[in-house]
Amino acid sequence: MSPTFCTSCGSRLIRRPSRNGDILRQACPACRITVYDTPSVVVGTLPVINERVVLIRRATDPGSGLWSYPGGYLETSETLESGAIRETREETGLEVAIRGLLGVYSRPGGRTVTVLFEATSERENWKDSSEVMEVKSFPMAGIPWNELAFWTAKYALEDWVYARERQLALPRAWRVGPARR
Ligand SMILES: [Zn+2]
Repeated sequence: MSPTFCTSCGSRLIRRPSRNGDILRQACPACRITVYDTPSVVVGTLPVINERVVLIRRATDPGSGLWSYPGGYLETSETLESGAIRETREETGLEVAIRGLLGVYSRPGGRTVTVLFEATSERENWKDSSEVMEVKSFPMAGIPWNELAFWTAKYALEDWVYARERQLALPRAWRVGPARR
């Protein structure tokens, strides 16, 4: 949801065209600032252990009761990779290592940009957490295609299957910048 009030002074925001007129932006008439309403970044992994992919069954809406990847919102203190590893740990108990970039997913009007990695773990000690209904691994032939929570989960699993079947190497060229002071 886009904000209604200015977070600095509490004035009701107005809408006005952006400089080149193609987007209606929100602005505070008192502070004379523009409120940029941009997508948030969601990060997550498909943990792959012994040729099976670990999915979570969501306990909350959207998509309660349906399957997805472990993932969530990236924090400012994190990199894409560390955020994806943290979300995976929180939702599955797995300590994963990133294997490669699976995909970057967006859509017009979307509130999020989703960055998903293939990951793996030495151990199969996943467990249900308070955040999810169930954690379970699936062979490629048993992916619950009709019970997925999000279009991003469908696309990511399709991309995983595509890469696996063709034995494609996933991109590993991401780089982490120096910490911002
Ligand atoms: Zn203001």
